[in-house]
Amino acid sequence: MDHFLDVVLPIPLERLFTYRISPREAEFIRPGMRVAVPFGKSKIYTALAHGVHQNAPTAYDAKEIYQILDEVPLVSAIQLKHWKWVADYYMCSLGEVVRSALPGAFLLESETLILPNKEAEVDEMGLADDEFLVFEALQHHSSLTIAEISDIVDRKNVLALVDRLVQKGVALQREELYERYRPKLVRYVKLSPSYGEGDALEELLKELSRAPKQSQVLLALFQWQAKSKKPISIQDLERESGSSKAVIKALVAKGILEEFHIRKDRVGYEGESQGSGTIVPNQYQERALEEIGKGFAQDRPVLLQGVTASGKTEVYIKLLQKCLDRGKQSLYLLPEIALTSQLIDRLRGYFGSKVSVYHSKYSIHERVEVWNNVRKGAEKAQIVIGARSSLFLPFPELGLVVVDEEHDSSYKQFDPAPRYHARDAAIVLASLHRAKVVLGSATPSLESRHNVDLGKYGHATMEHRFGKVMMPEIQLVDLKEATRKKRMKGHFSDTLFEAIAETLEAGEQLILFQNRRGFAPVVECTTCGHVAQCTNCDVSLTYHRHSQQLRCHYCGYHMALQPSCLACGSHTLDKKGLGTQQIQEELGQFFPEASVGRMDQDTTRGKYAYEKIISAFENHETDILVGTQMVTKGLDFRNVGLVGIINADSMLHFPDYRAHERSFQMLTQVAGRAGRTKKRGKVLIQTYNPYHQILQQVASNDYQGMYAEQLLERGQFGYPPLTKIIKLTLKGRDFNMVNQASDWMATSLRNVLGSGVLGPEYPPVARIRRDYLKNILIKIPEGRSLSQTKYGIKRIERSFNAISQYRSVRLVYNVDHI
Ligand code: ADP
Ligand code: ZN
Ligand code: ZN
Repeated sequence: MDHFLDVVLPIPLERLFTYRISPREAEFIRPGMRVAVPFGKSKIYTALAHGVHQNAPTAYDAKEIYQILDEVPLVSAIQLKHWKWVADYYMCSLGEVVRSALPGAFLLESETLILPNKEAEVDEMGLADDEFLVFEALQHHSSLTIAEISDIVDRKNVLALVDRLVQKGVALQREELYERYRPKLVRYVKLSPSYGEGDALEELLKELSRAPKQSQVLLALFQWQAKSKKPISIQDLERESGSSKAVIKALVAKGILEEFHIRKDRVGYEGESQGSGTIVPNQYQERALEEIGKGFAQDRPVLLQGVTASGKTEVYIKLLQKCLDRGKQSLYLLPEIALTSQLIDRLRGYFGSKVSVYHSKYSIHERVEVWNNVRKGAEKAQIVIGARSSLFLPFPELGLVVVDEEHDSSYKQFDPAPRYHARDAAIVLASLHRAKVVLGSATPSLESRHNVDLGKYGHATMEHRFGKVMMPEIQLVDLKEATRKKRMKGHFSDTLFEAIAETLEAGEQLILFQNRRGFAPVVECTTCGHVAQCTNCDVSLTYHRHSQQLRCHYCGYHMALQPSCLACGSHTLDKKGLGTQQIQEELGQFFPEASVGRMDQDTTRGKYAYEKIISAFENHETDILVGTQMVTKGLDFRNVGLVGIINADSMLHFPDYRAHERSFQMLTQVAGRAGRTKKRGKVLIQTYNPYHQILQQVASNDYQGMYAEQLLERGQFGYPPLTKIIKLTLKGRDFNMVNQASDWMATSLRNVLGSGVLGPEYPPVARIRRDYLKNILIKIPEGRSLSQTKYGIKRIERSFNAISQYRSVRLVYNVDHI
């Protein structure tokens, strides 16, 4: 009987691929193991075993697999189920989920190696210069990689050169698979057993009396052994003896010392921990814990809605402890791990070495180690803190998922596929494990709060800051008036300016927040603050420089850019927006004594860049921290007396149906950084629209009012959470083809789905790299089946794919686009 294996290849194609395997392999292979398979012309790929069967494929001849890479499944059955849900729900291929879920080091790909052809008689005179260089190099190396050949001839594209070398018989070509993960080995030394004790040792010391440096090393080794049972690494011995590697090597060479290796995890923590018993919840935390317990008992996720500094983190810590006590693992999700060194320290303070961290700034090696630790249920992987991708780790026994700052939009992956929302995918994962979920925020997303109303989530609230700390005092500052009365100093109103001066004088710190405008500039009047709106969609119009138009990027409504403000008639239209760097420069002029730190995209590129900026502010090395949305996230500073928002309007007018919700969240969060200890903190919000509902709601801390009003608007204009949306983007190099294809697509979608289809329309940035983009927004009203709608879309996609002239246009789905 023939045996076949279906595998998932880490590529965008939706189908599984079938390979031939032997009966013994069929017995051995389990779903979730990796196998290396030939694919395409000559490449070897890593694929994931999906299922063994006896049905030969009808459309093609099954090739044999190349090699089985694992002895036990790397990916569990629950994971495979979860990943299928992700692929299905977010409309991508399982292979794309695999590619993004597995640490890169697990996805070996073959590498082309060039070897010398020992048999050949090479006519050196017949070789071109570059050929000769490679030929010569091959005399000294057993093999060369393509990259090495590039280096030798000092140019990028060398495939033609390699072809010629193979043709002329100078070289051979071979595909090799490489394991990219290498365990980190630490080198240790010990005294050779032949010098064990007594005479031999005395003899040895005598012998070395004329080699003082070497005896110094030996003495250091003895001293170490006298006080510690642990082996000594070469590095430690070097330090302890004040000697060098060379001296230690000489002793090894003489056979006096022996070298050995110990495998060491790169990820580890060796500090003290106090256990969470020291936390005594206050009455509000007690009550929240009770409510959470009730929700858990009904198998519902619970939304923990607690004002900033109410002590949500301590509540999570109590829940983590309970989960730990039940012997299960927990996952603590954060929107952006780089910002949260603070939290990691806090959790390690309680749980010590039981905490592992997992995120994309980790090296491939570190990620493999965390993966393996989680899979084995290792002691150090009982609690995993991570960004959204840690959702794909191989938990055998997941008991609890905490989604901190659940409203944060960075939980949604934008590019590449799978374009998943980590909060929602976490809830599905938890249900597969029958694990508990708690979603926490001071400013829940409308989605989550709405789910409370629908009875899908439980609800726990904490309305007081911990330890009688007062909520900050929030004041709105009218920029229109300050401008009219000529009371502006640069971008600071006199009110903000004076508050900064007072705060600095009192020896306190302050945070200034300026929203990043992103890629969607709107045109704002700097006299009255007016921004033109789309009449159909309730969003700001986006400025398109090339056409000098203002356009709605949902429905296509547009008008010509006017030379003067439509509301007040003045010519002060601002198309650029204000950056954090400019604020920093102005501060330098006005407050030369103060030291200013800046946190934005430009200053946070390096691996530890965030940590440095944050710790400088924590240690009061900087007085003022100027930043974009990054400063809003979960930071707990002790000494912040003032938070200033330079211009709240750029947020309010962001061309997005969520602009109001987001403004509320961002402003409340950044205000929450003020006065987290005894003294009441102060927040100043500069705006041209001091009577805007959202700003009033921020100032009076009225989440409920914001929620009710926004939900009403979403209903009127047909947006989530009262509808579901799928954004379909068409991409291609050929402008006309993208236009034609999107018209075809939109028409077909309308035929099937009716009026909920908006566009096609150019996005705010209509060309990215060399691709032209066009969007179609599909709204799916409550009550219509999401899966049936997707099925309908997929059918249209199949017809689309059959039209040859559209072949160069790609389709990208973004389900629940935010
Ligand atoms: P949130 O996450 O809600 O913004 P935090 O968890 O950061 O609030 O709590 C705010 C401050 O109060 C922190 O400094 C925290 O250590 C302290 N705190 C909260 N709960 C307790 C508690 N039960 N015992 C001692 N300190 C607490
Ligand atoms: Zn105006
Ligand atoms: Zn519109």
